[in-house]
Parts: sequence; structure tokens; C-alpha cells
Amino acid sequence: CLLNNVLEIKKLTKSFGEQLVLDNVSLSLKKGMIYGLLGANGAGKTTIIKSIFDFVKPDSGEISLFNEKMPQSVEQFKKIGSIIETPVFYENMTVKENLLLHCDYMGEQFKNNIDRVLKDVGLFNEKEKMINQLSLGMKQRLGIGRALLNEPELLILDEPINGLDPEGIIDFRNLILTINQTYGTTVLISSHILIEVFKIVDRIGIVAKGKLIKEVSKKDLEEMDLDIEEYYLSL
Ligand code: ATP
Repeated sequence: CLLNNVLEIKKLTKSFGEQLVLDNVSLSLKKGMIYGLLGANGAGKTTIIKSIFDFVKPDSGEISLFNEKMPQSVEQFKKIGSIIETPVFYENMTVKENLLLHCDYMGEQFKNNIDRVLKDVGLFNEKEKMINQLSLGMKQRLGIGRALLNEPELLILDEPINGLDPEGIIDFRNLILTINQTYGTTVLISSHILIEVFKIVDRIGIVAKGKLIKEVSKKDLEEMDLDIEEYYLSL
């Protein structure tokens, strides 16, 4: 049912100068699904994500969020939690102070969520620590925590696993899965490494040279060889 679509992208096309960066990209995310956007560096994943936030104006195509077409209101955007690139914090403030600041923007009522999200991301005991005392993995988890403060219906994560060690990747993956299962949050996660995401996604869209060349369901993924990575990276 269309009403179940949290995000719908139709025939998105974008050029920067002479370079065609997105070529007729269409995809949709149903409520509660984890969708992995997979592709090599420069394939166009970030441009897709930036278009959702209206940071990039597409040349043509259409984006609907929660069944409303672009342009979106601020209220619509506040239903999204996001991490675009490495999350940035005020380094000389505490974990809690950083989250309080975010609520100043998102809404005072979300201050009541701070303790809960810190528990969810395993940082409750770090609440009074300065940001510069946290490891990269902790910062990534805090990024998720911050993105969850406003009880988002959609979580958009652009290469959130970049730079994490193998243990950090497993932790992070489990965290996303727990959030999805606990709150029913729909997730769009981009990555250039299939093994990072394939264990948690319901569906993968493979992006190469600006085109969504293939979509693979979880079931098909399980039956498929992971050589698929070599395949799309070679395109
Ligand atoms: P990465 O993992 O490196 O972020 P990506 O798949 O997210 O890769 P994009 O960042 O969407 O790729 O970039 C796609 C192409 O568009 C690249 O060739 C990039 O150089 C180009 N590009 C992106 N933004 C701009 C811009 N503002 N001006 C000019 N070219 C751009």
C-alpha cells in the first residue's frame, strides 16, 4: 500500500556541470524496512541522500517523504534522524550538554528522551564525559543517539561505519537492528562495503555511476555469493 511508503524517490536525475551524477534513480522504502544503499565511492549515494534533505536540487524527478512531495516543511524533516558523514559535536562540552543543545533545535520536549537514548546506545555512564574523551566508536554511537532524540520515523545514515574497527562495526550493526526492532524505525543506510550492512538490511539497492542498477531482497542476498561486491565495484 502506498500509504506505507516512508520515502519514495522517482526518476531522480542530477548533473554537476557536464557530469551526470544521478541518472533516473527510483526507489522506495516501506515503513519499518532497513534499506542499504550500496556502491563504490563516487557512485552517487551521498547525492541521493542530500537530495532527500533538499541540500541538492535535482534537475528532474520527484521525492516524497511520509507521503508528501518536495518541497518539505521543517516539521517533515524533523521526523528524520540522520548522520551525514562523521557526526560533529562540541568537543569541549559533555555528552549530555551536546544532546541538550540538539533539543534546543528539535524541541524542548525531547529532553525527556536523553537518558533513554543514552541507555539505548550504551553511553549512559558517559553522560558527563567530555566529547574529546570518547573513542570514535562511541562518537558514532552518540551520533545515533542524537539522531534518535526526536523519535524519528526514518533514520538516514550516510556511511556511518567508515573508520570503525571490526568490533565497532558489529556493535554498530546490532545497534541499528535493535533500534529498528524496538521502535519500528525505518532505516536508509549507505555503505561501500556489502559485508558491513548485508546482515541487517531487508533490501539493497546497488548504485553505480549514478544509476540504481539492481535491487536485491534479503532472501535473494542470502542465496547470493558475496562476490556481488566485486561485481558492483568493477562497474
Ligand atoms: P562517497 O562514498 O565518496 O561519498 P558517493 O556514492 O556518495 O561516494 P557522491 O558523493 O554522491 O558519491 O558523488 C557522486 C559524484 O558527484 C562524484 O563524482 C562527485 O565528485 C560528484 N559531486 C558530488 N557533489 C558535487 C558538487 N557539489 N559539485 C560537483 N560535483 C559533485
